[in-house]
Amino acid sequence: MGSAARDDIEFRSVTKAYGAVTAVRNISLNVPKGAFLALLGPSGCGKTTCLRMIGGFEQPTSGEVLIAGSGMNGVPPYRRPVNMVFQHYALFPHFNVEQNVAYGLRQMRPRIPAQEIKRRVGEALEMVRLGGFANRRIHEMSGGQQQRVALARALVNRPSVLLLDEPLAALDKKLRSAMQIELQTLQRELGITFVLVTHDQEEALSMADLVCVMSGGAIKQLGAPQDVYDRPADLFVADFVGKTNHIQATLEADGRTLRLPDGSALDVGAERNIGAGETTLAIRPEAIRLTPGGEPRGEGFAGTVTHRIFLGSSVEYSVSVPALGDFLVTADRSTDEGQLVEPGQSVRLGFDPAAAHLFPASHAAQPE
Ligand code: ATP
Repeated sequence: MGSAARDDIEFRSVTKAYGAVTAVRNISLNVPKGAFLALLGPSGCGKTTCLRMIGGFEQPTSGEVLIAGSGMNGVPPYRRPVNMVFQHYALFPHFNVEQNVAYGLRQMRPRIPAQEIKRRVGEALEMVRLGGFANRRIHEMSGGQQQRVALARALVNRPSVLLLDEPLAALDKKLRSAMQIELQTLQRELGITFVLVTHDQEEALSMADLVCVMSGGAIKQLGAPQDVYDRPADLFVADFVGKTNHIQATLEADGRTLRLPDGSALDVGAERNIGAGETTLAIRPEAIRLTPGGEPRGEGFAGTVTHRIFLGSSVEYSVSVPALGDFLVTADRSTDEGQLVEPGQSVRLGFDPAAAHLFPASHAAQPE
């Protein structure tokens, strides 16, 4: 079986077209067993279509999806070792919790003995910490509890892959954060491969151990959250995953001198192999140092704070720099640099050129 045996999910040159719309373009992807994969991208990028092809709700137009090394073309959803949690849970409101969780098991043929169903439902409810709730009605449960019932229902037949379609979208922010931790803990405990669809980059980075950034039906980058954040493959990924400041500039033939729009030159430290010419420099807000006072010949660029957002442990500043545009700067309040600076004040912005990413201008984000 070779490497296929270690991969739970594999896409081999998968394309999916709905009439004239190509939702997924020639995607190849390997997901190791027990991974927590997040499919991340803006609305319409094809992530739900990928999820539905794993679940068997859609068939590829060309190419093949494999699960645990077996080709799945033509295999219906109920014959796959996969289950799915939908965004709106799709619970039966007139059933109690136990009946909802048992539903799938009761439909199975040959029949599963009632005792066995009861035992497995109890086990699934324990997994999601709803041990004492078997007889509750669905409308007597909070949003978070309903979400857990949906999870228990999807786990009860012990799938080897669990598909989650924006499962936390209906929850408020605080509950969502709590459920993110619970889901992650559950996934580690069970060792089941999870595939999560989300357009929320924070959710993808915090929960998954593998993030697949998609745009226009294609994979832009696949990697660990930290890699995707620290080493974005292109400007689209840099912009979509986290916030980024841009400076349009020209890279000179030496591959390390940038000519900025204000006429100044910036040495980016080491030669970058992206070719001379029009370039976008991308720098994260937290990689910029903001120093109060604007002596004209100090380090970096002189600017004026135009706006301040107080976030508790950090502060986000908008800073206007003549000829270069507006910058977003995040200052961590646990350091000296976290002293509050007032809007209207002159500041200087500096950064370590090694922290800057350079992309050829042709890599600009494509509109969806
Ligand atoms: P969202 O976050 O909005 O759900 P998505 O990234 O999950 O977006 P998909 O739902 O996979 O994107 O859709 C990808 C493209 O395919 C979109 O252009 C969408 O309009 C189109 N599409 C999806 N399902 C169908 C369908 N059943 N019939 C026709 N077009 C479809």
